[in-house]
Amino acid sequence: MKDILPPESAGWERLRGIAAGFFSAFGYNLSITPIVEKTELFVRSVGEATDVVSKEMYTFTDRGGDSITLRPEGTASIMRAYMNSPEWKGRVFKTWYWGPMFRYERPQKGRYRQFFQFGLEAIGSDSPYVDAELISMLDLFHKKLGIDDIRVELNTLGCPDCRTAYRKELIGYFKKHTAEICEDCSKRLDINPLRLLDCKNRDCAPVIEKSPVILDLICDNCKSHFETVCGVLKSAGVEYNINSRLVRGLDYYNGTVFEFVTGRLGDRQNAVGGGGRYDSLAGQIDGQAVPAVGYAGGIERLLMLLDGSLNIDEKFSVYIAMLDETTLKKYMPLFIALKKGSIDHKPEYLFNDDSYRVTGAKKHLSKANRINARFAIIAGGIEAEKNEIIIKDLKEAREYKIVIETGDIKKAVLSVFNELDSIVSK
Ligand code: AMP
Repeated sequence: MKDILPPESAGWERLRGIAAGFFSAFGYNLSITPIVEKTELFVRSVGEATDVVSKEMYTFTDRGGDSITLRPEGTASIMRAYMNSPEWKGRVFKTWYWGPMFRYERPQKGRYRQFFQFGLEAIGSDSPYVDAELISMLDLFHKKLGIDDIRVELNTLGCPDCRTAYRKELIGYFKKHTAEICEDCSKRLDINPLRLLDCKNRDCAPVIEKSPVILDLICDNCKSHFETVCGVLKSAGVEYNINSRLVRGLDYYNGTVFEFVTGRLGDRQNAVGGGGRYDSLAGQIDGQAVPAVGYAGGIERLLMLLDGSLNIDEKFSVYIAMLDETTLKKYMPLFIALKKGSIDHKPEYLFNDDSYRVTGAKKHLSKANRINARFAIIAGGIEAEKNEIIIKDLKEAREYKIVIETGDIKKAVLSVFNELDSIVSK
């Protein structure tokens, strides 16, 4: 688990802002659900045999004796919330979320025990066009962020009937090759044979490669759904690769499944996020049949790909260097007004005051250089007497003196911004 402090947190804040605007334009509005749920929700939905439920959940008994779990993923909570909401029942519910998830995994690069996900869910529609729009939207979202070395891996898991037939084929096939598969795969074979397909053990690869492919077995309905999704993606210009080994780690998926992958995160952690249809999840929670499709992406991994490009641009930072307390007191209302004014100003100036310590010009300037400030606002008794301040451009080593109308704070703010703007544009 890690702390996210400034300046790193700026990238998080910006990413959240971009995501909110982008997803709501597509009709996916924000939902906030509790960080804990009853344990049984995840056991029933994510699946008892999955790694997440069997090995990775943070579960505890609360003071009332109920078993509670820190959420390991967001979809089950959103589905529970949808089913609890009389307002949304029976309507198509499109939503997005963002927040911390918890899994007791072995920590490594790009893998944490508390990590953040953003997710999108469209509940109440079985249309393949909703699947296709979701994937296209995510493709555009990544491109908007400037990540273009990312591709979509796509597969279908078919409906429960197709799955039953496929499971049988897989069990039959792998039972003939038990000597060639790893211990984990042997254990999983009877419980969840589909998971063998994404085993990362290299020894299993040759057997997996020759295993039966679901696309050869699915029914006409599932085939036509999948073909519609592929058709829309093709005409929308989304690059995808049909990967018959893509099965996803959680039990509730059926039909369309997909992942956004990149080669830039190393081979074990290549997925930025994944999703698919989960038409049976509502039934597992409370017996109703409600079709749905969704996606969850990892924020840490997305930010790793962005490599600091969303961080605040430090090039317009302004260091406040007051030489004595009387001057500081005089100009303090100006500094407060400048900070407020910078919220709406372009370029965005970042005011750094060093806790309003008063000291000599030399000390101030060496501090300003150390923190890479572009400008310093300097004033002492001589300037204060004439209602002046000095703006020093630390990059060009030039000074500009301006008069401050202390009686008209709006005018004063404007004159500082005008001066800064004119230096920046030189
Ligand atoms: P999943 O819910 O397992 O399909 O995960 C969806 C995405 O969440 C992954 O592709 C990762 O980007 C991210 N993710 C999952 N587990 C972790 C973790 N332990 N640490 C960081 N990111 C994770």
